Amino acid sequence: MPIFEYLCQACGHRFESIVQGSKVPECPTCKNTQLEKQLSAFAVGGRADSFASEMPAGPCGTCGDPRGPGACAID
Ligand SMILES: [Zn+2]
Repeated sequence: MPIFEYLCQACGHRFESIVQGSKVPECPTCKNTQLEKQLSAFAVGGRADSFASEMPAGPCGTCGDPRGPGACAID
């Protein structure tokens, strides 16, 4: 499950929130929803982010395998 770290822009409180669907998290201290999303623990290293930015949406939605959708799983 995705856990994101947020920094409240109203009071500066930093907290982690499990984001489910499109649910908008709010500051547990002041209930503000003006939040700045920080890099989560899972994103540290930026490997996934850099990979996604360097690779445009290829034929395979998961790995960019040129052979086509699902090709990487079939092998
Ligand atoms: Zn706050």
